[in-house]
Amino acid sequence: MTAAAMQLAATAAAGGGWEATAMQVLSDEYQAATTEAVPAGEPAATRRYFRRYEIRAAALPPAAEAVACSKGCSYCCHLRVSAPAHEVFLLADALLAMDDGAQRAERLARLRENAARVAAMDRQRHWSTPLRCAFLGPDGACGSYESRPSSCRRYHSLSAQACKASFDAPQDLHSRIRLSTPQLVFDMAQYLGFRRALSDSGLDTTQYELNTALCEALDDPQGSRDRFRRGQRAFLQAAVTAEGEHAV
Ligand code: SF4
Repeated sequence: MTAAAMQLAATAAAGGGWEATAMQVLSDEYQAATTEAVPAGEPAATRRYFRRYEIRAAALPPAAEAVACSKGCSYCCHLRVSAPAHEVFLLADALLAMDDGAQRAERLARLRENAARVAAMDRQRHWSTPLRCAFLGPDGACGSYESRPSSCRRYHSLSAQACKASFDAPQDLHSRIRLSTPQLVFDMAQYLGFRRALSDSGLDTTQYELNTALCEALDDPQGSRDRFRRGQRAFLQAAVTAEGEHAV
């Protein structure tokens, strides 16, 4: 465990309350991201961010309410997923680096099919249309687990039954899935710490719809990364997720 994670565990164990622990998570992440040798936003920095994310999650005591998520349960992998550009680039790299050519081609085909479907829908329609993520394997597990976006990482349901009910009735946008509040708060705090480091560097923090953004990252790898490094919007065609919009 890192020194920061040990300090964090001590704060949580001392009963400092969620607010204190969340503020510490945010501040630790911001510190770590801004003192990295690699500039925030580069793939190596995103990988290290995700590594810190895992160390921090392991350092905190389990939440009082048990999380229902388990490998193979994938209802949430049919929802609209959002990701910032630097996470999209990491996922694009992971996709291109796949050794199994047939699997890579199959995943790319599914991704393009999904992107075409998303482009033909408005957001409201997408919310109520289950779309199987291109990375979801036949075993119901994420096929790019190490590189999955932070939005996927912070989705911790307290009821698999509620997830199934929502999946079975996608048009019911009023269905409610209770998420683990402490995990959501700490995950968001870490996400915001890194996002602040990106923002300080003048980099794009827009949340993009995953399928359309990934296709653009693959179709225009140089242009999208150049725009990102210049502090511009990385993706010009991808669907954008508005602040506060309900999306995974
Ligand atoms: S990237 Fe992985 S975890 Fe996220 S929606 Fe797709 S399959 Fe699920």
